[in-house]
Amino acid sequence: MSTARLKINLQALASNWRALDATTEVETAAVVKADGYGLGAGPVSSTLAEAGARTFFVAVAEEGAAVRKAVGPGPMIGVFSGHMEGDTDLLRAHDLTPLINSPEQFQRHLQALPDHPFGIQLDSGMNRLGFEPADWAELRGKAEALNPRLVMSHMACADEPDHPMNQQQLRTFREMTEGVSVPRSLAATGGTLLGSAFHFDLCRPGIGLYGGLPFAGAKPVITIDLPVIQVRAVEVGETVGYGNTWTARRPSRIATVAAGYADGLHRAIGGGIDTFSGDQPCPVVGRISMDLITVDVTDLPHDPDRLRILNGHQTVDDLAEAAGTIGYEILTSIGQRYSRGYVE
Ligand SMILES: *Cc1c(COP(=O)(O)O)cnc(C)c1O
Repeated sequence: MSTARLKINLQALASNWRALDATTEVETAAVVKADGYGLGAGPVSSTLAEAGARTFFVAVAEEGAAVRKAVGPGPMIGVFSGHMEGDTDLLRAHDLTPLINSPEQFQRHLQALPDHPFGIQLDSGMNRLGFEPADWAELRGKAEALNPRLVMSHMACADEPDHPMNQQQLRTFREMTEGVSVPRSLAATGGTLLGSAFHFDLCRPGIGLYGGLPFAGAKPVITIDLPVIQVRAVEVGETVGYGNTWTARRPSRIATVAAGYADGLHRAIGGGIDTFSGDQPCPVVGRISMDLITVDVTDLPHDPDRLRILNGHQTVDDLAEAAGTIGYEILTSIGQRYSRGYVE
């Protein structure tokens, strides 16, 4: 077998959910959009449902079907993009709860599914999704009379605890929801960690469940093992890979492993990361190509069969930093080529 192996530790996932749940006095939901941040919406959702999650969120209605199948009837599945044209059948068939974002969506929902549950998303300053304050002021009475399941908003800077935007959005959200009688939610992972003022009735962590920052206490959820295809000796002065970006300074042994940027190991990662044989780091050298990565294994006493690129020592956030991006992007880029294994 020459495909790289992605191992997803569902116990660690459940444990991260429980750890975040334990930091609040309120309900903890689970955000499972983008196919469970790339890890598989089905197994991720059923694991979190077993751990105790009763509310799930996806980005678009199409994603809700797989989650409903995994968690069965009962749990609320909220759709952040709301009720878009063409969503009606999906919302009804899978009992999904659109988070209505605008007067147009509100109208569409009332016309297409007048008795179907919905929630409300407010814009508290991020200017991405949700009712503007003026539109909300106009529709609030009518919407509240229909008893929405949830009123929520999203924070722009919650991963920076001292950012003044956090308090500003908190104030705006409070103002916009003062006196509402339905459950309120403001916090994703970052907001959950900012403290109880941000928790309201429901927190909505995503990335922290999957082992990513800003939840520094998260357990790593995934490991990636790369099979070694061949190992070669390289003389001093010889180069490795596209563009000759690495030159041997000593007689070296170079292992070529089966994974590359088509597997979400972005070319932009460049150098500066390791792969591991057990606990022993072996640096990635030369450019990452589409399907292959070259690794300096000179310091290993033997030629390895496989090298691990994600583990407890080197996380998605380390790869993200090397690539100049965030852990979210590494996770959701992982792609379909891996042979996947779920560890219960
Ligand atoms: C993605 C998302 C979340 C989860 O965010 P994390 O930072 O991954 O915890 C919560 N709410 C909304 C509206 C989102 O788009």
